Amino acid sequence: AWAVPSERRGPLTPYTRATADTAGWRWRIPLQHRVGNGYVYSSAHIDDDDARRALLAGLEGEALAEPRQLRFEAGRRDRLWDRNCVAIGLSGGFLEPLESTSIHLIQSGITRLMSLFPDLGFGATEIDEYNRVMLREYEQVRDFIILHYHATKRSDSRFWDQCRTMAIPASLSAKLALWSGKARVFREQGELFTPDGWIAVLLGQGIRPESIDPLAATLPAGESARFMAHVRDMIDKTATAMPTHEDFIARHCAAPPR
Ligand SMILES: Cc1cc2nc3c(=O)[nH]c(=O)nc-3n(C[C@H](O)[C@H](O)[C@H](O)COP(=O)(O)OP(=O)(O)OC[C@H]3O[C@@H](n4cnc5c(N)ncnc54)[C@H](O)[C@@H]3O)c2cc1C
Repeated sequence: AWAVPSERRGPLTPYTRATADTAGWRWRIPLQHRVGNGYVYSSAHIDDDDARRALLAGLEGEALAEPRQLRFEAGRRDRLWDRNCVAIGLSGGFLEPLESTSIHLIQSGITRLMSLFPDLGFGATEIDEYNRVMLREYEQVRDFIILHYHATKRSDSRFWDQCRTMAIPASLSAKLALWSGKARVFREQGELFTPDGWIAVLLGQGIRPESIDPLAATLPAGESARFMAHVRDMIDKTATAMPTHEDFIARHCAAPPR
């Protein structure tokens, strides 16, 4: 990846934007004094200089520093806990930052270690259980990230062609089949991402289910449409009553001018 801060232009938005690019994706993180920008790319599909140029060309304001390069190889250890040594954070693995999951995985590793904390015997039962649940958690994050890439409709570069046609893990195929059939998404035990998160990406990437959950058809005609209209109305009213992100920050937590 390349990362570079830039001047902020336009209104302050309350979210990070991730935008697909020729060989990966770009992030844009608005802060009070600057915008953090980056391009996460596959070095097998674009060379470093072209990626750097693409990042700089996409900035909305002047770059405030020289771009900084970060190299990583995605993956994790086979065993995160081995005898009296537990790997947490980057020492255990790294998944690319599309869903910003690293700090969550650190927190989760600490919590699970506390709940399975050993005595001086370092029993294999606790160690195996820790490795089982942590590795599954890495796989859940991996599947969710792969979905973003694999579900693309883009065919304008070698990178996206490869993502669209690549083999995917069996666990993700099963999830896609459940969604594509009757719009079902289940949250596994301990999984970070909620069904709402999965549905946002599935629908956002244009994957529509073939039919609805048969239980939904048992509702009286118009009831679910009325319920959804009510939810939309509540969201509209609440959003309209709220100050903008920029106003809120100015009033409550403005950073001192530089
Ligand atoms: C640009 C960027 C944006 C990110 N955004 C997010 C985000 O939004 N959400 C998220 O969850 N994660 C994010 N991450 C990832 C997250 O910040 C890192 O994965 C996390 O900080 C790693 O923590 P760590 O403790 O494992 O490693 P580090 O923070 O790298 O800590 C390792 C420490 O070990 C020290 N050290 C190294 N070698 C030795 C040695 N031999 N002896 C003693 N000490 C040593 C180092 O000096 C360092 O202090 C981002 C990362 C980057 C680069």
